[in-house]
Amino acid sequence: MSAQKTLDQTLEQADPAVARLVEREFERQSQAICLIPSENHVSRAVLMALGSVLTNKYSEGYAHRRYYEGQQVVDELEPLAIERAKGLFGVEHANVQPYSGSPANLAVYLAFLDPGDTVMGMALPMGGHLTHGWGVSATGKWFRSVQYGVRRETGRTDMDEVRELARKERPKLIFCGGTAIPRAIDFPAFAEVANEVGAILVADIAHIAGLIAGGVHPSPVGYAQVLSTTTHKTLRGPRGAMLMCSEEHAASIDKAVFPGLQGGPHDNTTAAIAVALGEASRPEFSAYAAQIVANAKVLAEALVERGFDLVSGGTDNHLILVDLTSKDVPGKVAAKALDRARLTLNYNTVPFDTRKPFDPSGIRLGTPAATTRGMKEREMLEIARWIDEGVEAAKREDESEIERIAGEVLELTRAFPIPGAPG
Ligand SMILES: *Cc1c(COP(=O)(O)O)cnc(C)c1O
Repeated sequence: MSAQKTLDQTLEQADPAVARLVEREFERQSQAICLIPSENHVSRAVLMALGSVLTNKYSEGYAHRRYYEGQQVVDELEPLAIERAKGLFGVEHANVQPYSGSPANLAVYLAFLDPGDTVMGMALPMGGHLTHGWGVSATGKWFRSVQYGVRRETGRTDMDEVRELARKERPKLIFCGGTAIPRAIDFPAFAEVANEVGAILVADIAHIAGLIAGGVHPSPVGYAQVLSTTTHKTLRGPRGAMLMCSEEHAASIDKAVFPGLQGGPHDNTTAAIAVALGEASRPEFSAYAAQIVANAKVLAEALVERGFDLVSGGTDNHLILVDLTSKDVPGKVAAKALDRARLTLNYNTVPFDTRKPFDPSGIRLGTPAATTRGMKEREMLEIARWIDEGVEAAKREDESEIERIAGEVLELTRAFPIPGAPG
């Protein structure tokens, strides 16, 4: 075979071993219910944009100011993604080049802080993100970090603590948002604190961007100077990220992303982000976002009825954090048993956890992926029952019960296919 033909083979022809792994992952996702709140199932259109020849291109710089030639197409594509982001979120400026959420956040530090300056964010075990100044992260090592948490009685962000800490420590940057926050974020309250101490407020909406786009979570626009988001969680796009801000900070943000932190943008990802933003601006997406929240509410209520202890007692968004202490099962044991039962979720610390981070007391779950498949309230009630039965089975080490649940889940998933079958 000529070299040309070899290179134009399908994945199946060219590399059956990898093709088989991709197929198996498709089957795994199809035959389980994904309850990981940071995951989703993207459309075939997003997958096709990602897998396109745009991956071949180098485009260091910004539209019409690039360091490589051959930008005729990319210089239309990237502004298209940017315009869609601006329209969808109602912002003056968007940068779609960050490789993912963590580098996007690092770019924000680079834009506004010098090493050693003070940053304030929610502590990781309280629901924050590594990049909000947690100690093991570069953001906690290279900057002086102060961390807030939630109130023990309510499980909700302690705005008194936020205000007191900010007054005392005078951070230059304040992050709000996180990875395990089941309640709506009070952007006006954070803005008031940030304004009082002269800090830049960053709303990290990685988890809730799709809910904001769909109009079912308040928007931080007008309150936070910078919005940071991943594109692959509730927003349902490719793995990637965006930074959004007003014109005032546009140049600093752009300079921090490139050349401050990154080299060439991933143009195939930019294409897929544009597709996802197009999808998110349609009325169907608002309906999707509303259903995510409706499903999470039903699932949360059903779990409470079954005696589960939910951090903050419930949810306002897509996410539920369960403290399993009262069930006497460690989070990891429960998560692993539920995975065998085809319910995929993750073990997670709960606020004031008495167990270790690698073996914590909680599990974290959410509804974005299941809702993408068309699951509604009825399916949520079944999922709550399976979680209850699965956790009890895990406690008794009853593997045949786990298998029975796995069989029932498999049966249900057949009616809710996921997009993007390979081949
Ligand atoms: C997921 C997430 C990130 C980081 O995203 P990666 O793409 O995994 O680097 C940052 N902040 C928050 C709040 C997140 O939930």
